Amino acid sequence: MTLQPVTVPFLDLHAATAELAGPIEQAVLRVTRSGYYIGGPETEAFEAEFAEYTGAACCVGTGNGLDALELALRAMGVGPGDEVIVPSNTYIATWLAVSAVGARPVPVEPDPATHNIDPARIEAALSARTRVILPVHLYGQPADLAPILALAKHHGLRVLEDAAQAQGATWRGRRIGSHGDAVCWSFYPGKNLGALGDAGAVTTSDPEIAAEIRRLGNYGSSRKYICETRGTNSRLDPIQAAVLRVKLAHLDAWNDRRRAAAAVYLAALPGLGLGLPSVLPDADPVWHQFVVRSSRRDELQHRLAGAGIATLIHYPVAPHMQEAYADLGLAADDLPIARDLSREVLSLPIGPHLTREMQDRVIDALLQQTG
Ligand SMILES: *Cc1c(COP(=O)(O)O)cnc(C)c1O
Repeated sequence: MTLQPVTVPFLDLHAATAELAGPIEQAVLRVTRSGYYIGGPETEAFEAEFAEYTGAACCVGTGNGLDALELALRAMGVGPGDEVIVPSNTYIATWLAVSAVGARPVPVEPDPATHNIDPARIEAALSARTRVILPVHLYGQPADLAPILALAKHHGLRVLEDAAQAQGATWRGRRIGSHGDAVCWSFYPGKNLGALGDAGAVTTSDPEIAAEIRRLGNYGSSRKYICETRGTNSRLDPIQAAVLRVKLAHLDAWNDRRRAAAAVYLAALPGLGLGLPSVLPDADPVWHQFVVRSSRRDELQHRLAGAGIATLIHYPVAPHMQEAYADLGLAADDLPIARDLSREVLSLPIGPHLTREMQDRVIDALLQQTG
């Protein structure tokens, strides 16, 4: 089969920047002329605006999402000998942050309907060493937070949320950003709120956690040239902050476009033998990904590519099956739900710049391939 050129891109980042080209270029120019190249008014303004948007008291910018997770864990005092409950089905960065502070990621399988950590399985994974439960709002759908928060309270544990894929999502009518003790964000360009490079943040309503993250990300110094802890350098760049301020003002509207596209898929795709995403009654997701499930996933992806439709797999290798985690001694079959998801999930094109015409092409191709 000869591959046609891609006619439906997976995510059109160029179109996103083009829609806001004027204000984005003005924002970059503003920083260029300001003389503030680390911290300063743009970074502070974004932190204040994002805290307000998420409903948290504090927001601390970081260099990226992985750093946000690592610094938040360190700020909570997690270190060697500690255990952190993580989803077995997530992007590898969630696990890497736990490992980076010297703690052990303890995986818990997802609810296969939502792909998010299954709260009913957490209790059995707790030990005397557990310090934190780290749910991920995967694909933009909030994890089932009520039982997780209750469990953490009961056992005296902290809850750290990985919200890298969930900017603007709500749970029980309140935006993600302040339900747990701290919430970590990535503004990697492809996220729902994306910068023009690396960027991240932590939101929290605990001023001590916020101050500690800021100190650790600033060399472990709260006063210039006085270093109390071996910290690191991870700060939100003011150019990225200025761009994020422009895009934050459009986030809800862009998420609504994703919601509309998801509704079109959800109406058109039943009956094709594909597993479709299901949404918890408490959750209003922002559809970072629209993930279907098929036992013939690789063949389906290949055929869609032949029809000019780009798809991706989130994620093709479950964390416990990665070479980096061979030392945990977990066999693929030890976490069968994560294993099966890694073999069967397929992410369809979705984003604020996916046109109805492009989406109809995706749906037509799926009808032909599976019908
Ligand atoms: C993107 C992402 C991260 C890492 O963010 P970076 O900014 O790329 O470091 C962490 N967790 C999840 C779930 C992500 O999707």
